[in-house]
Amino acid sequence: MNSAKLGWGLHASGRMRHIEMAERGKKCDCVCPDCGSPLIAKKGDQVVWHFAHAVPIECNGESALHRAAKQVIEDAATNHFSILLPEISGTVSQQDIRRRHFEGVWSVPSRLAEISAASQEVRIRSDLIADVLAICDQQEVAIEICVTNRKTEVEQQKYEAADVSCIEIMLFDMKWNASVELIEEAVLRSASRCWIHCVHARYRIDAARVDLNQKIQDQIRDEAATFDGFCSLIMDSEIKQLNLLNWPILKAKFSQTSDSSITTVEVSETPKITKFLDVCSRFNGIIESTGIVNNKIPVGVYFILDGIDISTISIGSPSLIISVDINEFESVSLEKCGLTWVGIDRWIDKLNAKAVEKYQKRENQRLESEKRIDSFAEYFIGLNNLEKLAFIANKLNISPPSYIGPVVFHWNTTWSIWKGLVWYYYVFKKKEEVVYLSSIAECKWLSRLLSWSDTSESINKRQKDLWFWFKDLESIGLVGHEGAQFFNVSKMLPKKFVPWEKIKVK
Ligand SMILES: [Zn+2]
Repeated sequence: MNSAKLGWGLHASGRMRHIEMAERGKKCDCVCPDCGSPLIAKKGDQVVWHFAHAVPIECNGESALHRAAKQVIEDAATNHFSILLPEISGTVSQQDIRRRHFEGVWSVPSRLAEISAASQEVRIRSDLIADVLAICDQQEVAIEICVTNRKTEVEQQKYEAADVSCIEIMLFDMKWNASVELIEEAVLRSASRCWIHCVHARYRIDAARVDLNQKIQDQIRDEAATFDGFCSLIMDSEIKQLNLLNWPILKAKFSQTSDSSITTVEVSETPKITKFLDVCSRFNGIIESTGIVNNKIPVGVYFILDGIDISTISIGSPSLIISVDINEFESVSLEKCGLTWVGIDRWIDKLNAKAVEKYQKRENQRLESEKRIDSFAEYFIGLNNLEKLAFIANKLNISPPSYIGPVVFHWNTTWSIWKGLVWYYYVFKKKEEVVYLSSIAECKWLSRLLSWSDTSESINKRQKDLWFWFKDLESIGLVGHEGAQFFNVSKMLPKKFVPWEKIKVK
């Protein structure tokens, strides 16, 4: 059956009485503070002194210590003892007009406060009863004693709503038979405690807000002064200095897809202000002015202290926004300003038109060059072999051969003509480059000029002829043999070389 030991009993006088102070046995005249049934003071030699329920009952008298603690505070008021009120601290924060975050700290230090009055179980609101309501240094403070469970958020909200200061004192480690002295020491000083709600903190928070706000205003004022000075410096600068600004490069592209290739042209422009006119207005880190772009176009200029919201000001078109970051960590310079053009749709339209124009010009050039090539091919094909030789000799600035020789089937022309063409297109024009014999034997351009047969047999034969001829050229140092079927072309080619002459080894 139940054998709960109580250190404290509720005496007939209405006060809690410690076992030390009680008379032995039933004479103690105490009842259990929880169930109200009689207690017996057991003060023998065998067991630690304690109260026990006189009749066995399901009760552990758990509120005994709680009630004793409340009584201790009430008694402390009678004796004008002091109670330790804990420290409370926190932070306040604020954003400045540059959208930066600032913080300030506030605190109410811990202190000993004299208790001049205290009552138990005081109704604060219909749904809130304080364990003790005390007057500590002329201020009302509710005191909640917690032996088993801490106060919940709901109770905290109730104290906040009632705007009554409240501290919570934790007595978790207190022994069931703790003496009045031990409880007094714990409750008044040593037990851990915290504020549930502190009315006084409000003044500290308000003061911290005022301080923080002042600090922010001071800083902004200093920064705005530096900003004004720096912007005036920019506006008075020479063009050479203004070039140091990070002028945005405006770009436009035009792409055209034909067959499988994409042609893209890009154009860019970097408009710059060459002169600033008078300032129209200065307000809270925003300076409005006018500038002249490339000595002719007037534009709006807005100097903005970095971070300031400019969505509320109406910005004309076109305009330049110059964002200036003034801060305590680094010095301001022209290179670090952020420049942005706004309302420049018409400029971009013009730039796009320029890109199209550039593309068309390039395309016309390409078509013209193709046309020239076509008409040359047509002209060349129309010549007879003698005329072809005369034409090539003229290109190479040498004399044509006296004897032109027979037509070779797989070249569809004479030795002198194909050697002359290969020299002109594949040796003369490829100084210091590598040529592949297969690419000559299959060359589309030569094939067009000479109407080659494209059978693998004739390609192979052309490649073989080329190989023998390139070996001859190698022997006099005009080409170098690089690999099985490719040669590099010397950069020391003679000014006049006659490709159709029999090559003599020196
Ligand atoms: Zn009981």
